[in-house]
Amino acid sequence: MFTEDDLIPISALQHLVFCERQWGLIHLEGAWAENRLTTEGRQLHERVDQVESESRGDLRIARGLRLRSFRLGLTGRADVVEFHRLLDDAPGRRAPPDSPTEGVRQEGADGWWQPVPVEYKRGRPKKDHCDTVQLCAQALCLEEMLDVNIGCGALFYGKPRRRYDVPIDDALRAETEALTLRLRELTESRRTPLAAYAKKCDRCSLYDLCLPKTVGSGRSASAYLRQTLDQIARPSGEA
Ligand code: SF4
Repeated sequence: MFTEDDLIPISALQHLVFCERQWGLIHLEGAWAENRLTTEGRQLHERVDQVESESRGDLRIARGLRLRSFRLGLTGRADVVEFHRLLDDAPGRRAPPDSPTEGVRQEGADGWWQPVPVEYKRGRPKKDHCDTVQLCAQALCLEEMLDVNIGCGALFYGKPRRRYDVPIDDALRAETEALTLRLRELTESRRTPLAAYAKKCDRCSLYDLCLPKTVGSGRSASAYLRQTLDQIARPSGEA
């Protein structure tokens, strides 16, 4: 079990799935470059964060819930956690037994409520698993925090505006836990992985900082920047 001081942001997992070097540049070297995609994504999250929690009949919605797992050593925040009331007579649902495994209590409300994490994304569903892994990590945190089993989450994409249910199944759980181990390993190594140019680099917000075609030999972005600044500061005529 990890302690509060050891927790790593869930967002790091998402960067790791996209590119280990991008993860290193952001989380080890503190780099962040905003492009149109990241700006739109941030604005979408800000809009989500501004809306307050609400209750609609058999649905309760909590926004911006802080998450953590001491077992996995992860922390983060959920855009939205929906709580669906479990009803005996609702098709496909059943009330949980006395020892709850599917539902939790809600303050000021009767019955049991099933948590469903929902993550908002700009753009379209991605080819890699970065969004589903992030969602699964949120679900694993919620399970530990609420002592409940979560069978399903959801991803909402801006283009087209559509919601996709995501089963939190064994394969996704195993993938997420394996990536969490890799994340811990890389974090403890304190070394930014090398660049390797790929097609995805063209849509990477850190392309200009990473320079994957230039510094693929392994220099870190900070070393490259230091060298560039040294060259600028050097009197003309020096090599
Ligand atoms: S430019 Fe390519 S190698 Fe560099 S961080 Fe982005 S995806 Fe990774």
